[in-house]
Amino acid sequence: MIAERDAARTVLHVDIDAFFAAIEQQRDPRLKGKPVIVGAGVIASCSYEARKFGLRAGMSLSEAKRLCPKAVILEGHAQVYRCYAERVFERCRELSPDVETYLDEAYLELTGTERVHGDFTAAAARLKRAILDDTGLTVTCGIGPNRMLAKLVGKTTKPDGLARIHAHEAEAFLVARPIEQLAGVGHAHARTLRGMNLRTIGELRVMPVARSKRCSVRPDGSCSSAAAAATRRPSWHARSRSPSRARHRSITTPPTRARSTACSSTSPAAPAAPRASCA
Ligand SMILES: [Mg+2]
Repeated sequence: MIAERDAARTVLHVDIDAFFAAIEQQRDPRLKGKPVIVGAGVIASCSYEARKFGLRAGMSLSEAKRLCPKAVILEGHAQVYRCYAERVFERCRELSPDVETYLDEAYLELTGTERVHGDFTAAAARLKRAILDDTGLTVTCGIGPNRMLAKLVGKTTKPDGLARIHAHEAEAFLVARPIEQLAGVGHAHARTLRGMNLRTIGELRVMPVARSKRCSVRPDGSCSSAAAAATRRPSWHARSRSPSRARHRSITTPPTRARSTACSSTSPAAPAAPRASCA
């Protein structure tokens, strides 16, 4: 599953935990520990406290209110989120000159920097600490021999996690991953694959060729869209290229106060910049 060229490569994936919601909690301490939703129409981001009720990005707000009536719902502050993200990315650029950033995540190419950083896991731990000190936000870091694996291994340890996978561990790691975790497999594609009784990446990999053609799955076991995503820039994350993700995750409405009746007395204070100034 892993190309030979990846065996000597090291990529660090940095993902801000519960991005919009965490920033709202950071800006208004009264929201800490509470289920917080940011979104308009659908959930763009929700805190981990909200996720305990089954809430997730993309869910309609009406469904979210039904599952978690006490959730604090905010329409968001797009400019503030961009400032926070840029502070995080600045810390990332101190670790590597080759950083590719998206809405709330970054891929750092660490290949060839061993002599500078020493142990990559320790370097990532230092980065996490620097980001927390600078912004008050936690991030999850995944280290792997390519982007897909770096991101996937990070997912296993969210939130505020740090994990590494080496090339020789990839085979065993991937075969047991749920099909939904394969890059490029969205909700609809996952439904199709599960309808075909495919639950793990390993099951997808050994699927017969004839059957795979019916759902655009390649003979090596990778989804066509997923394989492209794993080897190229994950463009569905890019703000400028992703209508669907932008629809779900970008916040374009003007700042408003909290709309929750349950927590209306704890509506956030006026918009504030991150701890460090952000022009
Ligand atoms: Mg995130």
